[in-house]
Amino acid sequence: MEKVVLLIGGNLADREALLKEAVLELGRQFEIIKLSGIYETAAWGGKSSGDYLNMAVLFSTDKPAEEVLDIVLAIENQLGRERDIKWGNRTMDIDIIYFGDQVIDTERLNVPHPMMSGRKFVLIPLAEILPDFVHPKLKVTNQELLEKCPDVSEVKYFSASLF
Ligand code: ATP
Ligand code: CA
Ligand code: CA
Repeated sequence: MEKVVLLIGGNLADREALLKEAVLELGRQFEIIKLSGIYETAAWGGKSSGDYLNMAVLFSTDKPAEEVLDIVLAIENQLGRERDIKWGNRTMDIDIIYFGDQVIDTERLNVPHPMMSGRKFVLIPLAEILPDFVHPKLKVTNQELLEKCPDVSEVKYFSASLF
C-alpha cells in the first residue's frame, strides 16, 4: 500500500459541491485517510478568472501510480472538466502531489508534482494534514517548504473539512 496525496479543486460552477462529489468518487476507489480544510485562492497564472477552492486528500491504495492517474483523470471528466487552454478555468483539477516516497518521471506523470514547492495553494492544505512528511526529492518537510515558499498570492481559509 502507498499513501497518496492529491490536491483537488476548481473555479467554476458550485465549487464546494464539486469538491464533495470528487471526494465521494475518490472514496469509491481508495481508502481515504484524511482531508484538509478548504482554501480559496485567486486564479493563478493569469489564464483563468474566478477564484479557486482547493483541498488536499490523503488516501492509501495498492494500485500503481499510472492507474491512479487514469482514475483521477476520469473523475475530472465525469465532473465536467473541459480541456481548452493550459491553466484555464476548470470545474475540477486533480493533481497527484505525492505517491508515497516514489519519484516518477514519465511522459504522463511527474511525481512529486514539480510545481508544488512554488504554490502556496498546494503547500498550505498539505502542511495542514502532513506537516512533517519529507519531500522525497527536496528532502525537506512540507512545513519547511511552506515557510520557504516565495509565492505571494493570498490563500484564504474557506471552510473546515467537508466530511
Ligand atoms: P499543472 O500541472 O501546472 O498544475 P494542470 O493541472 O492544469 O497544470 P492538466 O491539464 O490538468 O495540467 O494536466 C495535463 C497532464 O499532466 C495530465 O494529463 C497528466 O498526464 C500530466 N501529469 C503529469 N504529472 C502529473 C501529476 N503529478 N498529477 C496529475 N497529472 C499529471
Ligand atoms: Ca494542477
Ligand atoms: Ca492537473
